[in-house]
Amino acid sequence: MRAHLQSIEQLTSLLAEQRQATDQQGMVSEDVRRQRIQAVIDLLVDEHEDLSAAMDADFGGRHPGYGLMNDVLGSLSSLKYARDHLHEWTPSQPRQVFPPYDQLGAQAWVQYQPKGTVGIMGTWNAPLFTLLSPLAGAFSAGNRAVLKPSEITPRTAEVLAKAIDARFDPLELAVITGGVDVGQGFAGQPFNHLVFTGSTVVGRDIMRRASEHLVPVTLELGGKSPVLISRTADIAEAARRLAVAKGTNGGQICISPDTVYVPVELRDAFIQAFSRAFSQLYPQVSDNPDLVCVVNDHHMQRIDACLNEAVELGAQVVRCPDVEFSLTQRKRPMSLVINPPRTSRIMREEIFGPALVVLTYSDIRHVVEEINQGERPLALYYFGNDDAEQTLVLSHTLSGGVTINDALMHAAMEDAPFGGVGASGMGHYHGREGFVEFSHVRTVFKAPEFDPRAEWGMLAPYHEGFTAA
Ligand code: NAD
Repeated sequence: MRAHLQSIEQLTSLLAEQRQATDQQGMVSEDVRRQRIQAVIDLLVDEHEDLSAAMDADFGGRHPGYGLMNDVLGSLSSLKYARDHLHEWTPSQPRQVFPPYDQLGAQAWVQYQPKGTVGIMGTWNAPLFTLLSPLAGAFSAGNRAVLKPSEITPRTAEVLAKAIDARFDPLELAVITGGVDVGQGFAGQPFNHLVFTGSTVVGRDIMRRASEHLVPVTLELGGKSPVLISRTADIAEAARRLAVAKGTNGGQICISPDTVYVPVELRDAFIQAFSRAFSQLYPQVSDNPDLVCVVNDHHMQRIDACLNEAVELGAQVVRCPDVEFSLTQRKRPMSLVINPPRTSRIMREEIFGPALVVLTYSDIRHVVEEINQGERPLALYYFGNDDAEQTLVLSHTLSGGVTINDALMHAAMEDAPFGGVGASGMGHYHGREGFVEFSHVRTVFKAPEFDPRAEWGMLAPYHEGFTAA
């Protein structure tokens, strides 16, 4: 069988073969895990130009330099971190634990076992990273894997599938390409763990399908990530950092700042500073190779519809930069949408594109209350220099992760878990957390020759006078 699959029937039979191979292999050595990770690293190093060009073509304009930085180097960072820390995570001796006093002489230990085969479904917005970063965790834990790239980035999926087909035994790693029907079939397979990165709506359906075989899931979902700007913040620097974050991948990032809460008296200063900073980064729109395209017409129309509705409902829109642009290129200026009504579509749905809502506040406690009335966000950002306020925000909100005085950065921590909470997802990967997520943690108890329970009077018949004391 090839490592590039094109039908669910092929996948079903490959999974049966992988299951057999897992059972025959037993515990996977550190060397084998390292070799698998290294093979993915080599693939990325050798194929990075074709992969970056394919992502550029899939988006209709996504600078290959950005593809290299985000998807190739981002994935390499996870893979190299896993390769270099494998030894700490997979000690040759299992972790000893201490049996209770009534089991004197017994031994017990905890084993981190590979689960078997991990299925990984990725998104179009980071078409390599959402597959290969979880793969680093899956391989570090000794698993086999099957990847399902997004059909919205088909050229990238093809280049990746071809490269994997040329380098991997399908018993270790395979790829299946196809559309929504393949995604649905994939989610219903008897994997030993399933990682899904994507929207909350599809995530619910994926979890339902996975439950058929009681497959444990890691759901890396989306949502609206709020930004709280304090009165104590350096407003120009906060705006500059937000312009950098919001411009990344054309705003098409799961943890992209979505809604900014700014003190009412600092509103105009923020809008001016953001516009200036964004326009410096991206002085032109049409033909600007640095500005990442909105991925397709469907998403372009979705964003237009949200913006038009917000304007109809009375919101003010400020474009950065305020220049002419051509819709056919799918490049849009960043739109600041100021104080849209809470009922508008842009306030209800994840923006996931070149727009940013700006809301004003007087009391930051009301902002915290408003955030808590919505779904738990994937990321939350606080800009400010007031320790008490920072503590209030951190202790009274729940989100997947937090960055203070910048945006996006917590997701780059290889040594810290990345994941959502509530509607933004469940489970984690990155670093050791990825290793643990994709391992089965098994406790082993080895009884002593002599059974101490008899000595302690713990076996029936219970003698009179036996008390809890
Ligand atoms: P999506 O949910 O439409 O698709 C994700 C994957 O599911 C793709 O592989 C797709 O082929 C498949 N799919 C689509 N519809 C399906 C269906 N009905 N049944 C089965 N499979 C289906 O998401 P997207 O548009 O590719 O990505 C954008 C979303 O992903 C945003 O919400 C974003 O916030 C989120 N995201 C989250 C993270 C994270 O790490 N938390 C990272 C990137 C993107």
